[in-house]
Amino acid sequence: MSNWAIAATWPFGRLAVEVGMKLLDEGGDGIDAIEQGVNLVEADPAVDSVGVGGIPNLVGEVELDAAFMRGADLAVGAVASVKGFPNPISIARLVLERTPHHVLVGEGAERFADSHGLQRAPLLTASSLEAWTKRRREQGQLTEERISRGHDTIGVVALDRKGAITAGTSTSGLALKLPGRVGDSPLVGSGFYADDTVGAAVATGCGELIMRGCLSFAIVELMRMGATPQQASAEALLRLIGRLENTVAVRDGAVDETKIAVVAIDRHGNVGAAANHDDFDFAYSLSSDGVIHLARAPKVG
Ligand code: ASP
Repeated sequence: MSNWAIAATWPFGRLAVEVGMKLLDEGGDGIDAIEQGVNLVEADPAVDSVGVGGIPNLVGEVELDAAFMRGADLAVGAVASVKGFPNPISIARLVLERTPHHVLVGEGAERFADSHGLQRAPLLTASSLEAWTKRRREQGQLTEERISRGHDTIGVVALDRKGAITAGTSTSGLALKLPGRVGDSPLVGSGFYADDTVGAAVATGCGELIMRGCLSFAIVELMRMGATPQQASAEALLRLIGRLENTVAVRDGAVDETKIAVVAIDRHGNVGAAANHDDFDFAYSLSSDGVIHLARAPKVG
């Protein structure tokens, strides 16, 4: 049997890795491993940037973005600005597998989810409402002009025993975002990319900056040219922040608004990660030892 590998953003990604690694070890598909793992993170109200209990937008609604990419044929399923569904990654999977389209947004995505019988649920929790009220009070009139503190994404990359490589993402995006704002997480090449012939990458952090460099695609292309996941993650991130540094203060990721981090795997099951700040931890597991690792990504820049 061949190698498998799975890696996820942030310490809360551990939950996704724990579920996903069991499936992969049994020979299951990467897409199932990612969906089941991310569903758990989406359902956990303690993870305040994904699914239930996610961070509300400017007007107090939880608006979710999610995506899947299948590395066999480069097909994508993505949804953006979806309200009222706790598991947007499952809608993204249906878009990928049941439609000729790649991206559905807002009401159209919600109608589509209804037509496939996906469960609706309230996303706002007492603590997310409290955090929103506090942020609104603190940030007052500035909210339309600047990106607010508070955002994260569950991004997962997986290699299964059949050699299939998959990437998936799910997030509530930026705190106090304008209604309808779409981040990098449902945008192919920016928040995620997967290609069975090379590997996969996912990103987390300020979507407005990540999408300027098509960061996940850039990582996969560097791996295609021979870089390891670690080298490719660091190099692609360095190139992006180098290109932006005269216009945006991205060099040290000191302000929340400029934080960026990435996780990547290659087709052999090697894992890498990088961030422009000191506090990006990610979770991963490999078939070679079958345990969950929590590691700090090296800071670049
Ligand atoms: N990338 C996400 C977005 O901009 C947020 C994050 O991952 O921190 O929507």
